[in-house]
Amino acid sequence: MTKKIFRSIIFGSVITLIVSFVFIMGILYEYFNNQLLSELRNEATLAELGVEEYGVDYLENIDLENRVTWIDKDGTVLYDTTVDAAKLENHADREEFKEAVENGSGSSQRYSDTLAEKIVYYALKLDDGTVIRISSEQYSAWALIASMLDPLIFVFVIIVIISILLANLLSKKIVKPLNEMNIENPDIDANYPEVMPLVKKIRKQHILIERQMTELKKNEEEFRAITSNMQEGFIIIDTKTLVLSFNNGIEKLFDVHDIKIGDSVFTIDRSEAFRDCVESSLKGKRGEGQLKYNGKIYQLYANPVFEDGNVRGSVLLIVDVTEKEKREELRREFTSNVSHELKTPLTSIFGISEIIMNGIVKSDDIPKFAKDIHNESGRLITLVNDIIKLSKLDEGAGFGDKQPVDIFKMAQDTITRLDSMAQERNITVKLTGEKTIMESIPAVADEIIHNVIENAIKYNKENGSVDVFAGKENGWITFRVKDTGIGIPDADINRVFERFYRVDKSHSRKIGGTGLGLSIVKHGVSFLGGELSIKSKVNEGTTITIVFK
Ligand code: ADP
Repeated sequence: MTKKIFRSIIFGSVITLIVSFVFIMGILYEYFNNQLLSELRNEATLAELGVEEYGVDYLENIDLENRVTWIDKDGTVLYDTTVDAAKLENHADREEFKEAVENGSGSSQRYSDTLAEKIVYYALKLDDGTVIRISSEQYSAWALIASMLDPLIFVFVIIVIISILLANLLSKKIVKPLNEMNIENPDIDANYPEVMPLVKKIRKQHILIERQMTELKKNEEEFRAITSNMQEGFIIIDTKTLVLSFNNGIEKLFDVHDIKIGDSVFTIDRSEAFRDCVESSLKGKRGEGQLKYNGKIYQLYANPVFEDGNVRGSVLLIVDVTEKEKREELRREFTSNVSHELKTPLTSIFGISEIIMNGIVKSDDIPKFAKDIHNESGRLITLVNDIIKLSKLDEGAGFGDKQPVDIFKMAQDTITRLDSMAQERNITVKLTGEKTIMESIPAVADEIIHNVIENAIKYNKENGSVDVFAGKENGWITFRVKDTGIGIPDADINRVFERFYRVDKSHSRKIGGTGLGLSIVKHGVSFLGGELSIKSKVNEGTTITIVFK
């Protein structure tokens, strides 16, 4: 803007200068012209008097600066102060002569061939009818300009220099308040009222932009808040696989902390599955794949982003599916175990019934075989019941509402129920503690208490003992069962809670175990919000403690 104002001022000054110059030259030229004509008029009057008095002698003897020509009535040159009159042609057709003959005086101007010179003529008619003509050279306008060129150039240069300095100063002065203007609170009104509409427009735009910026910021913050709290990893990439945006989740999942915007997405993971997914999405096809990273399993979804029908990038979503996959694996294992566990008693029932059916069995042996069928069916029923309990716990429903339960009383009843089992092996079961009421689901609490005490008897030694505690310890509701049984080897201690896991399978089967008891206990405890711990030593015994905090 400063440059434009500067240039405009200079342009204006130069144009003004040229116009003034032409104007002044015109006035000067006109002035000189009039001066010359009046000079010629005076000289002609003087010559008229002289010629009338002394005739041609006067002309011969005078010393005039200008040329004097005496012309007869018919145009014949009688005398000329510069040229021999005889050599001059008839002047009857000259304009100034004709005018003087007619009006008493006349004037005219003629240019030389080069236009550089102009001759001014003034003619005066004498009383005898002859005409005296004075002529003088005058500079043409060009010649006048040429004669004044040096001072003119000097003045021109000076004026141009002054104009440049002034233009520089002025343009800066004009632009300064505009540059220093505060758009939000412009106090330019007084100096530049003309700029106010523009300022108002800018101010409106400014407010609009600010509003849009706030909106954008808010959206970005919302987006960040959502994505940063996502468990899933989230990356946006462009068509060159460069990262445009990502969330904290991605850093946590891949345990990388130096991802930068503009990095290649392959710096995060270089596996083939990852590369295939990304490349497929950038070709416009949704990619899906599984990644294994640091012992974890991630599911990757790569969705292409389209704009006007063209792929502009891709959005990658990475979900940790380790738990889900493990659960799937457990479910598969469980199904296959269930089938196996069901098959064993069913096969023996089928076999026995077939032998009886074929009449091979002696009638004396039938009660024995019937007892086997009864036992195997009992096993099947226990197994199916345990499976139902577990699946109920998995679903977390079907046990009814919470209600006050006295766990001391519940333990007492269980011990009574299991009394014959304990007596069979001469095992002493002792209960300590006190009446302890807790909000619980009776069916689940009973199942836990029953399974733990039953195991303590089942896996005990002849004449062993079981100590049951149900009450409060350190302010927490506690249920503890300690036995003097066979104990669990260290290698198995963490696995006894797995479904169908048994330390000694044949022993467990012999005593009617399904391998689901402790799984039900573990699930039940976590379902009721308790904590479970186990301590065991082979041949010394096992202690299981459940605390409700
Ligand atoms: P099971 O129906 O076979 O008893 P559980 O899930 O109740 O199944 O127990 C799993 C395994 O843990 C048992 O087979 C047994 O080997 C071991 N176990 C459980 N309780 C005890 C205990 N009190 N003492 C020693 N071993 C035990």
